[in-house]
Amino acid sequence: MDILAMLTPLQTLAYIAAALLFILALAGLSKQKTAAQGNTFGIIGMAVALVVTVAIAIATDSTGAGITAALMLVAILIGGAFGVFKAVRVQMTGMPELVAMLHSFVGAAAVLVGVNSFITDPGSGTYENAFHMGEVGLAVFIGAVTLTGSIVAYLKLSAKISGKPLTLPGRNIINLVMLVIIIACIAWFVNTVGVEAGTLPLAVITVVSLVLGAHLVLAIGGGDMPVVVSMLNSYSGWAAAMAGFTLGNDLLIITGALVGSSGAFLSWIMCQGMNRSFISVILGGFGEGASPKGGSGEARDYGEHTEITPEEVAALLKEAKRVVVTPGYGMAVAQAQFPVAELTRKLIAMGVNVQFGIHPVAGRMPGHMNVLLAEAKVPYDNVFEMDEINDEFGDVDVVLVIGANDTVNPSAETEPDSPIAGMPVLRVWEAGRVIVSKRGMGNAGYAGVQNPLFFNENTDMLLGNAKDTVEAINAAL
Ligand code: NDP
Repeated sequence: MDILAMLTPLQTLAYIAAALLFILALAGLSKQKTAAQGNTFGIIGMAVALVVTVAIAIATDSTGAGITAALMLVAILIGGAFGVFKAVRVQMTGMPELVAMLHSFVGAAAVLVGVNSFITDPGSGTYENAFHMGEVGLAVFIGAVTLTGSIVAYLKLSAKISGKPLTLPGRNIINLVMLVIIIACIAWFVNTVGVEAGTLPLAVITVVSLVLGAHLVLAIGGGDMPVVVSMLNSYSGWAAAMAGFTLGNDLLIITGALVGSSGAFLSWIMCQGMNRSFISVILGGFGEGASPKGGSGEARDYGEHTEITPEEVAALLKEAKRVVVTPGYGMAVAQAQFPVAELTRKLIAMGVNVQFGIHPVAGRMPGHMNVLLAEAKVPYDNVFEMDEINDEFGDVDVVLVIGANDTVNPSAETEPDSPIAGMPVLRVWEAGRVIVSKRGMGNAGYAGVQNPLFFNENTDMLLGNAKDTVEAINAAL
C-alpha cells in the first residue's frame, strides 16, 4: 500500500486529536485547580502534532528522506537545547521578557514561511494562486509586526531601553499611512506574476510592517505593558494561523486561531482590569501629558511615613480576626511567597481568617501572583480576585501589602492627572491597619508614581527585603 495513502487519514485523525487536546488545555488553564492538567493536555497535543508532522514530512519527501530527517533533527536539537537552556535559567520575574522574546520567534517564522512559500510558488495570475499570494502577504505583514513589536517589548520589559512611550507628533497618522502602504502593496503583490515581479512589493510589505511593529510598541508605555504582552501573544497566534494557510496545515491554522483569539480575549480582560479601552492601548501614548506637568504626584508632599518592626507586625497579626494579604511584584522579586505561605499557615492555625486579594495586573505577567501562591501551596480557597474582595476592606483588621505598589495606589482614584488615573486598585486603605512591605522609601512602582497610601495615618512601612521581613514576622510569631 502507498505510504502516503496510509498516512493521510492518520494525519487527519492525529490533527483532530491534537486540536481537541489544545482546546482541553485552554479550558484546564482557565482555573488554578485544573491548570496542571491543562498543561499536560497541551504537552501531549504538541507532542502528537510534532511527531505526526515530522513523520509526514519525511515520508512524503521527494528529495531524500535521510536529508530531511537529519535537517529536522538538527533544527529540533538546536531549538530544544535553546528552549531548555532559557527555561531552566529564567527567574519568575523574567517570564514576561522570555514570553515576549518567544513571540518574536513566531513572528520571524511566519515571515520566513511566507517568503519561502512565495519563492517556491510565486504569482501565476490564476484565481487560486491569488488567494495563496494574499495569504503570503498577510503572513509576512502580521509576522513582521509581531517580530519587531515583540523585540521592542522584550527590550522595554528587561529595561534595556526606556519604558516611556515614544510619542512622535502625528503618530496615529504615521501608523495609518504605513497601514495603507501595506494594504496597497499586498494588492499589488497579489497581482504579480513570477518571483522577480513579486519581490519588490513583498520587500516593501516586510520593511514597512517591521517599522510599524516597532513603532506600535514603542508608543506604548507605563502600565499598559501587560496588555501589550498579551496583545503580542494574540498577534503571534494570528501569525502562526497565517503560516498555517500558506503551508496548507490545518492544525497550525487551528492552533494559531486558538492562541490569537484567547490572547485577544485576555487583552480585553486586562484592559477592563485597568479601566483602559483596547483601542487607546493599541494607539499608545499612555501617561503622555501627565508626567511632564508634574501631575504624576511625585512632586506632591504627602507628609511623613511611619515605620514598624516585624515583631510589632507579629503582635498586630496575632490580635487580628481578619487579615488580607495583597501581593505584588516585590513578592516575586524577593521570592517571598514561601515565608508568606508559612505565615498564612501559622495565622490560620491561630484562628485568624487570612485571605489574599489579587489585582489582575499585579506582578509582571497575567496570573503572576496566582502562579507564585500556587507554587508555595497557599490554599486556592483563600485566594480572591480583586472584584471579589474589594468591597470588603472596611471589615478587615490588617492588610499586609507585600511588594505591591501601583495596584494599591489610591491616587488612581483621587488624582485625575495621575498616569494611573482610572485604573481600578485594591482599596486597602479602608482596612483598620495597613502594613506595607518594601525595601526603602526611594523607589516608586512600575508606573513611576508616588503612592500616598504610604503616608496615611493607618499605614506603617515594614522596610526591608520582603523575604527577610516576613521570615522575621514568622520567627516572632
Ligand atoms: P509595582 O511594580 O507597582 O511595585 C513593586 C513594589 O515592590 C515596589 O513598591 C517595590 O519597592 C517593591 N519591591 C521590589 N523588590 C522588593 C523586595 N525584594 N522586597 C520587598 N519589596 C520589594 O507592583 P504591583 O504588582 O503593585 O504592580 C504591577 C505593575 O506592573 C502595574 O503598574 C502593572 O501595570 C505593571 N505591569 C504588569 C504586568 C502584568 O502582566 N501583570 C506586565 C508589565 C507591567 P522597593 O523597590 O522600594 O522595594
